[in-house]
Amino acid sequence: MTYYEAVHKALSCLEKHQVPDADIDALLLLQSVCGITRARYYACAGDTIPESDFARYMELVDLRSQRIPLQHLTGEQEFMGLSFHVCEDVLSPRQDTEILVEEALKRVRPGDRILDLCTGSGCILISLLKLGKDLEGTGSDLSRKALRIARENADRNQVEASFICSDLYAEISDLPFDMIVSNPPYIESGKIPELMEEVRDHEPRLALDGGADGLDLYRRIVPESMAHLKEGGWLIVEIGYDQGEAVRSMFVDNGYSDVHVMKDLGGNDRVVLGRKTIV
Ligand code: GLN
Repeated sequence: MTYYEAVHKALSCLEKHQVPDADIDALLLLQSVCGITRARYYACAGDTIPESDFARYMELVDLRSQRIPLQHLTGEQEFMGLSFHVCEDVLSPRQDTEILVEEALKRVRPGDRILDLCTGSGCILISLLKLGKDLEGTGSDLSRKALRIARENADRNQVEASFICSDLYAEISDLPFDMIVSNPPYIESGKIPELMEEVRDHEPRLALDGGADGLDLYRRIVPESMAHLKEGGWLIVEIGYDQGEAVRSMFVDNGYSDVHVMKDLGGNDRVVLGRKTIV
């Protein structure tokens, strides 16, 4: 069995189960199992694949056919050019969230202290600490399992961060922050059954469910943020594509200035940000 033949066997299995982007997944799973780059695959496609690699590859292809997310099988997801360990205890980092990190990076200054609420895999906080200059960061999450992954990801990316188990601000000390960022759960509870099987059945519901209208978390994050931000500090949150107006109004009603709704690369509203007014 050559590498090429193995990939084609995988591809027909994934296609039979209507796995989206089957060709991409067939290659990525092979790369992960054999520890090779895509270029290396093309160079050695006609060589014989070691039997144990082939067996493991077919095992993963079978799991992927059952709609286990690709990232859970490879154990990692790239985000902001960095590698994050993911599993079913955390939401897998999405490319859409990179816009939040980019907007945050434009507004931080060296020495700033950042709070990341609902840190999950830690991808937002860790990217900011890695790509910004001299920043200090705290990540909070209600899920202890998620915090374990976040800590692991901080080590993996060699950044210093503190993580705390907390229901939003509940366990956060009084010392105010220069910036608060969050990608909270924001899916309407009633829409969860309609999500892709990979997300609905294999990502934590706690990381997805934003209550009846999806806005429950913003109703707590936005008003309480004022007490935890320094004058001139920024609040930056990710939102669902149809939540821009509702969340923008919350920022304005709570006294934020410079409030903007930013779009992601797909042209959808994705981030709302505002500044605590200097009075
Ligand atoms: N902050 C994490 C992320 O952006 C987790 C978000 C969540 O659990 N809703 O991926």
